[in-house]
Amino acid sequence: MNIDNSTRLDAHFNSQQPFYDGIYAGESVEIPDTAFDVKDGERIVGCMDEGTADRVHIATPGSFILDGEEKAARMLQGKGVGTVTSHPGCAAAKAAMKMSGKYTNITQKDIDEFAATFSRRLAEKIGAKHEDIPLHRPSNFHIARGAVYDGSRGAIISDPNKGGMIVGNNFVIPPPMFRINRKHLGPERAISAMGLSASIATSDHSFAERISKENPFVVFALGHPTEKGLSSDALEKELQDIQFAVDGTRATLIEYFGSDIIKIVKLNAPQYTSRHNK
Ligand SMILES: [Zn+2]
Repeated sequence: MNIDNSTRLDAHFNSQQPFYDGIYAGESVEIPDTAFDVKDGERIVGCMDEGTADRVHIATPGSFILDGEEKAARMLQGKGVGTVTSHPGCAAAKAAMKMSGKYTNITQKDIDEFAATFSRRLAEKIGAKHEDIPLHRPSNFHIARGAVYDGSRGAIISDPNKGGMIVGNNFVIPPPMFRINRKHLGPERAISAMGLSASIATSDHSFAERISKENPFVVFALGHPTEKGLSSDALEKELQDIQFAVDGTRATLIEYFGSDIIKIVKLNAPQYTSRHNK
């Protein structure tokens, strides 16, 4: 990492400090009801990447690219999806290409085309639109100090007119975070995506040692209001217990990173009202 990037990372890290100071101090956190406002047929699927996840409802690695088209279509059938998005520079798309074993000498252009093609075909399959959206973060590093592990039906929490978070007594638009939709992705993929996001945040492609005991990476366990298996308590337990593998080593998320650099904050989605669907 050159000096310039290091200075820019410091600036991103420090600009998020006031938000995380409130979280570390244990202030109450809520997501308002309006953040969940979405009409049937208008739900947006996208990548967990913090450069796009703030504008989607159902966020998973590369818009389900690791699951393949058939399985992804089955998982999204009947979920009221209107748009499937893709984005340039998608790490999940690169992983999917590598996993397939069909490609050699993969260029960035190949990855971007692969990502867009997957999302376009998935969209066609489920009768939705496709949109390739720009990445709202620096293209050469990640800037998320936290992640939302979402057991609800997905909220937009970055729109000042709808979503956001209430931290203590203040309504705030949170800084960019990874978002993993656990409800739609299922536990195994979701926990490995969660592990991946924590590894990225603590790596040289991101904040590295800036994530520390004093400034832990925060995972918001956003529970479903009525489904017990997706409650914030259940998600917290899952985050503590489920194993995932990085570089062939299996460990729980908490063991792997050390509990003192990961903080889990429980959050509950509000009871759904008639203007929302499940
Ligand atoms: Zn992506």
